[in-house]
Amino acid sequence: SSLINQIAAGEVIERPASVVKELVENSLDAGARRIEIELEAGGTRLIRVRDDGTGIAAAELPLAVAAHATSKIASFDDLVHVATLGFRGEALASIASVSRFALTSRPRGSAHALCIEVADGRSTEPHPAQHPEGSSVEVRELFHNVPARRKFLRAERTEFLHIDELVKALALAHPDVAFTLTHDARSQRVLRVASDEAARLARVAALLGDEFAAQCLAVQHTAAGLSLHGWVGLPAAARAQADRQYFYVNGRLVRDRVVSHALRQAYSDVLFHGRHPAYVLFLQLDPASVDVNVHPAKSEVRFREQRLVHDFLFRALHEALADTRA
Ligand code: ADP
Ligand code: MG
Repeated sequence: SSLINQIAAGEVIERPASVVKELVENSLDAGARRIEIELEAGGTRLIRVRDDGTGIAAAELPLAVAAHATSKIASFDDLVHVATLGFRGEALASIASVSRFALTSRPRGSAHALCIEVADGRSTEPHPAQHPEGSSVEVRELFHNVPARRKFLRAERTEFLHIDELVKALALAHPDVAFTLTHDARSQRVLRVASDEAARLARVAALLGDEFAAQCLAVQHTAAGLSLHGWVGLPAAARAQADRQYFYVNGRLVRDRVVSHALRQAYSDVLFHGRHPAYVLFLQLDPASVDVNVHPAKSEVRFREQRLVHDFLFRALHEALADTRA
């Protein structure tokens, strides 16, 4: 089954950033208010994610690193209405199969922490450890046993930048969670909890730049069970680039053609012809009307009613932008 896990890992775990994504999403699923990410050598030597979430009960600890063990799907119906970020139950097992892995956890309200380690396809019995309430996952020597993957790793700096970009995207969607990011013992990002709209915009500024934050337009639109909020950059904010387009569907960052088309059309229709809008936008809709399981990395979605979503987004942005022209 270690081989099966490695094959599964091949699908989901492409590079250090994929590991960070899975671990941070688990921390968010566990209700963490504070998430600390520590890296060494672009994440290739060490990735450690520590949270203050619910933790994992002693009896559940071995299950957490077993393939296809998830605490997040109780019924088939849940599969259709995936509310949490993780839902496949294979991330930890996959990561553990391609690294030297340790999971330490202390459930909320418990006096004790336990640690389970996995290396070379074998996991230890849970043993006592020191840890505050919450969990830490430590991933060392990623791909040490998968030369084909190791070969495709880029320079440490490049791998770090991928992780930083990912952390930015996750932090934008979770203003109520504090994040720290450390690389080779140097602090890279310290994001405190943003509890009001001004603080949220400050976090947008920290992540997308002051220029964007100073010249963006707040968007807030609700219709037909859909709701959109966030910020769109005005062209004065100059050279908006595709890498400054953040679109979230029910809290998940996605890239979708229907979405980008609708937004680009509204943008050029109003007055900014030929420009690419920069934006941070959050779309909320009934989870049953969107399929999030298109791709294992979960960055794609399929809307059940594409036309409806397209027109909603076009109208929302068109309205917000038209106001600026008046
Ligand atoms: P999934 O997230 O799809 O359920 P994972 O392999 O990512 O699968 O995690 C397996 C299980 O381990 C989760 O369902 C959860 O119960 C537990 N778990 C993993 N990370 C954490 C964490 N940081 N805090 C609490 N529980 C966790
Ligand atoms: Mg998960």
